[in-house]
Amino acid sequence: MKFNTKTIHGGQEHDPAYRSVMPPIYQTSTYAQSTPGGHKGYEYSRTHNPTRNALENAFASIENGNYGMAFGSGLAAIDAILKLLKTGDEVISTNDLYGGTYRLFTKIYEDFGIKFHFIGMENAERIEDYINDRTKLIWVETPTNPMLNIIDIVTTSKIAKKHKVLLAVDNTFATPYLQQPLDLGADIVMHSATKYLGGHSDLVMGALIVNDKEIAERLFFIQNASGAICGPQDSFLALRGIKTLHIRMQRHCENGKTVAEYLKNHPKIENVYWPGFKNHPNHEIAKSQMTDFGGMVSFTTKGNNYDEAIKIVENLKIFTLAESLGGVESLAGHPASMTHASIPKEEREKTGVVDSLIRLSVGIEDEADLIADLKQAIG
Ligand SMILES: *Cc1c(COP(=O)(O)O)cnc(C)c1O
Repeated sequence: MKFNTKTIHGGQEHDPAYRSVMPPIYQTSTYAQSTPGGHKGYEYSRTHNPTRNALENAFASIENGNYGMAFGSGLAAIDAILKLLKTGDEVISTNDLYGGTYRLFTKIYEDFGIKFHFIGMENAERIEDYINDRTKLIWVETPTNPMLNIIDIVTTSKIAKKHKVLLAVDNTFATPYLQQPLDLGADIVMHSATKYLGGHSDLVMGALIVNDKEIAERLFFIQNASGAICGPQDSFLALRGIKTLHIRMQRHCENGKTVAEYLKNHPKIENVYWPGFKNHPNHEIAKSQMTDFGGMVSFTTKGNNYDEAIKIVENLKIFTLAESLGGVESLAGHPASMTHASIPKEEREKTGVVDSLIRLSVGIEDEADLIADLKQAIG
């Protein structure tokens, strides 16, 4: 089955009760048993729920994996991965990563005696320098947030396999429409389904997809034992969102390209970060591991003025000033005052998050309206 068919049919069956085309929202915590242990595979909804199972099968299908798991948020999914580790284990992570992931690693799991090495992964070969016999996990996010750096998944997976270390990839920005990390050698794919998979800014959810049965069994055990699951209503909404993932992503990519090129030619703009540009430092890797370049675009203004950047995001009318990304509507964010405000200026500037940096999640509106909005806001 091709990807554009999988988003609609992958892992899905008509509901056995009445052959409803969409799975019903099984809004139930428990299931009647005829005799102790006499049930149809469902006992309690933390462990299993038919609506959530339908979504988990869809997650597995679109990422070319054998097993899918749904969680109450992207961070709950990452938390489940970290529970595969033990005190004394080490993790090598990209240093340009989602702030909430960094907070979970450093403010919670460091206290449990897990050691994290945060390194620049633009040159994947560097990873090997940090591997020792305690290394258990490599954490990759690509493209990264908000600088749109690209990490070479194939090279990283070869290093991981050589040293028998797990490779997990946060595929939130790319989605399986653009990039399928399991096929590139990753062991675990993670999503904040809050973003493109859900796609309509109406839910918070996480996903994990794996191929290996043993890893899947451990993660299913953690999912049930820790209990950070999502409910049936949100499962239904995410499943509905996934059915249009391919056409939404196609338009996100088209509009992203139009916006990136418009900004590049704007006299007031200094830098535009978008992996589709030939002069992007890892453009060739992006081209080899992604089918297109996505709808996330970041830029800075000439003079790098903090107040001017604030004025631009305040002036935008169609782009909504908000955190998050990946919905049908265009959003704009100012990392220095919003997502990265808690990081000291010198620290954030090391990774490129300067005062005038603005991050756009380009939506699927008409591109002429988006360009006109940027034009009036930037001036
Ligand atoms: C939003 C996000 C997360 C966290 O997901 P939540 O659903 O907000 O918990 C993790 N990684 C990336 C890249 C994200 O954008």
